[in-house]
Amino acid sequence: MKDSNTKTATKKATAAKTTTSASKAKTPASKSSASTSKTSTPKGTVKAKSSAAEGLRELFVDSLKDIYWAEKALTKALPKMAKNATSQNLIDAINDHLKVTEGQVARLEEVFASVGEKATAKKCDAMEGLIKEGEGIMEETEIGAVRDAGIIAASQKIEHYEIATYGTLAAFAKTLGEDAAVELLVQTLNEEKEADITLTEAAYNTINFDASEEDEE
Ligand code: FE
Ligand code: FE
Ligand code: ZN
Ligand code: FE
Repeated sequence: MKDSNTKTATKKATAAKTTTSASKAKTPASKSSASTSKTSTPKGTVKAKSSAAEGLRELFVDSLKDIYWAEKALTKALPKMAKNATSQNLIDAINDHLKVTEGQVARLEEVFASVGEKATAKKCDAMEGLIKEGEGIMEETEIGAVRDAGIIAASQKIEHYEIATYGTLAAFAKTLGEDAAVELLVQTLNEEKEADITLTEAAYNTINFDASEEDEE
């Protein structure tokens, strides 16, 4: 833990630099090397919020809040996708994954508890965008095999985002020595991988072919 007085001093120094940054804007960027990067904000560097994570643990908890929001959003988005699907195989796959997703929400609550944090949801911009893209694909396709192929495409983007997220979370938890959390996160990671495979199979086995037949009609 950093001494709080030191921290305040650093923040003040950062604020002072920010106020003068406009006049210094023409200073060659080449001179701002690693030694100054802690207090200055070189061009292209995102300025950290006052709530910014200072260590891996905080980043881990922030990421948990993000995926908790995402999973909850999916429990609302998946029924809409199922309603727009035609293939019974795809409808079943989506409904199965809806049940799995509800379990994942509950499992995340266990993860929060295991690391001594309150379960909180924080809006995930990526999942909001992926769900929106799925809605866009449905609007852009006639109901039937073509929309089914589009729903699979959108769903796989969602699953891949989740796979990346849970893989990262499990790695963070491992480094932090949160073994109970690792186990829970890997369980979900495997469920997301399974969902991705199921969707790939549905696409390869029938849906993409059926959708291509629509071209001839
Ligand atoms: Fe999920
Ligand atoms: Fe995210
Ligand atoms: Zn997110
Ligand atoms: Fe999923």
